[in-house]
Amino acid sequence: MAVYWRIFLSASLVNICCTASRKPQDAKRIGIIGGGIGGCASSLFLRDALRNDAYIVVYEAENISGRVRSVKLKGNEYEAGGSIFHEKNELCQRLVKRFGLKTLKDEDDNNNQGTLINYGSKVLFRSSDWSVFNAMKAFYRYGFSPLKLKPWVDDYITKFARIYDLFGRNCSYSRPSDLMFAADAELVDMFFLSLTDAMRKAGFGELFITEVAGAAMRVNYNQETSVPAFVGSISLAGMEGPLHRVKGGNEQLPHLACRSADTISPTRVVSVKLLNDTRFQLVDDAGQTDTFDFVVLASPLVRDRTNVEFIGFPVHFTAGDWVGSYQTTVATFVEGEPNFEYFGSSAFSAAFNIDPNGRWSSIGRLSTVTGNFPQMPVWKLFSRASLSDKSLSEMFLRVTAKTEVDWKAYPNYSEPPHYPPPFMLHSRLFYLNAVEWAGSAMEMSLIAAHNIANAISNEILGLHPQCPLAARTRHKDL
Ligand SMILES: Cc1cc2nc3c(=O)[nH]c(=O)nc-3n(C[C@H](O)[C@H](O)[C@H](O)COP(=O)(O)OP(=O)(O)OC[C@H]3O[C@@H](n4cnc5c(N)ncnc54)[C@H](O)[C@@H]3O)c2cc1C
Repeated sequence: MAVYWRIFLSASLVNICCTASRKPQDAKRIGIIGGGIGGCASSLFLRDALRNDAYIVVYEAENISGRVRSVKLKGNEYEAGGSIFHEKNELCQRLVKRFGLKTLKDEDDNNNQGTLINYGSKVLFRSSDWSVFNAMKAFYRYGFSPLKLKPWVDDYITKFARIYDLFGRNCSYSRPSDLMFAADAELVDMFFLSLTDAMRKAGFGELFITEVAGAAMRVNYNQETSVPAFVGSISLAGMEGPLHRVKGGNEQLPHLACRSADTISPTRVVSVKLLNDTRFQLVDDAGQTDTFDFVVLASPLVRDRTNVEFIGFPVHFTAGDWVGSYQTTVATFVEGEPNFEYFGSSAFSAAFNIDPNGRWSSIGRLSTVTGNFPQMPVWKLFSRASLSDKSLSEMFLRVTAKTEVDWKAYPNYSEPPHYPPPFMLHSRLFYLNAVEWAGSAMEMSLIAAHNIANAISNEILGLHPQCPLAARTRHKDL
């Protein structure tokens, strides 16, 4: 099965030509810049809504699938970027079902050696696999806080899930905050409150916030609990579960979704020019020029790294408060034997480090994308900088293979912008990754893709759905 997918995936990577069958003269031309899960899903949702009324081109400068991809180590594949999604992430689940794929649930590891919360090499809390014992230990250290976590996270998941009802009614919004507000006003409040303050307000104890929420933020976003509560709650939902991943690799989702495009151009868009109020000209690094009625920018605008020039627009999209920096997270994959003592223990399956200056952020034993644990264990370490050979020789007694991926992984939430920029940069020009400033996750990119596809298809088809209004009076900045 894995071999079949490899062949299929490499075929689709070089498949830069087109299915010429769909090209009615009056089809609207839609250019999508970026073939990650967000760009590919935009293409799919647009195809669903518009059928032959759209001619869709996806431009991808590097790899289809973007930050959702696996790495190979000793012949096995492991998730290197977007790894897991929550069971209630409806759009991820829908794509899995639609493509006839299967999911793996949590790490089904009979040999669980426990999870540690550390400050450097000092173990602060250890959970074992005996749940009663765990509950008692957790109560002893954190009081009633652990019992509050599930209802608190579930409450936000329920509010968040109203977004799917809005999409069912073809609703679309021009800003992430408007979409969240229409789902539930409290979701927007969470952009303006730190995770620490939101949890204090909900009655969680200080030690629980520092250690448990701190560990969740470190492993999921490599950041601290000073981040906005919205992204913080995504992170805590990731601790609560149930969590899934696609059997055979999450990258199948973008690859299969991108088959809905008419053309995949393996080039980098270098400029978007406003021709008149309704059309855009895209130029790519191969010197090709094409014109479009709608453009979806499905890659992040990042300070010092933004590669697309906007020409002829009244607003400088890359100069304003909307462009922030992205957090570096290095994922190092090591086949070998950990020096458990270095991590303050005799054995574990995962450990999270809440020391803000720590060399490592988390370490966990991995199974392959098909759910197997190789005989010689493989470990994934997250860190904020590349780990030197010297560091690795302290962390491991023996290293038999290693590889690393250096990511610009997700927004740095401690810096501006402190609330998400708009989806709609200009009439008919959309910015999918605005949503990442609310929270970065595969499901969030799918939500943005659905919202944008609704906006474009409503305009083309002349639909005016009745949708809850987005009142912005509650926060003066929005
Ligand atoms: C280490 C790591 C761990 C993560 N873990 C999780 C997780 O467990 N669960 C989860 O839900 N999410 C996780 N995420 C986040 C998730 O992977 C991202 O939020 C999501 O994949 C973003 O998808 P996207 O399509 O919006 O952007 P991207 O995947 O970044 O896609 C953008 C694409 O645009 C292309 N591009 C850029 N500029 C141009 C241009 N000028 N012209 C043409 N193409 C261009 C890029 O090459 C890229 O392929 C993780 C991310 C990382 C890095």
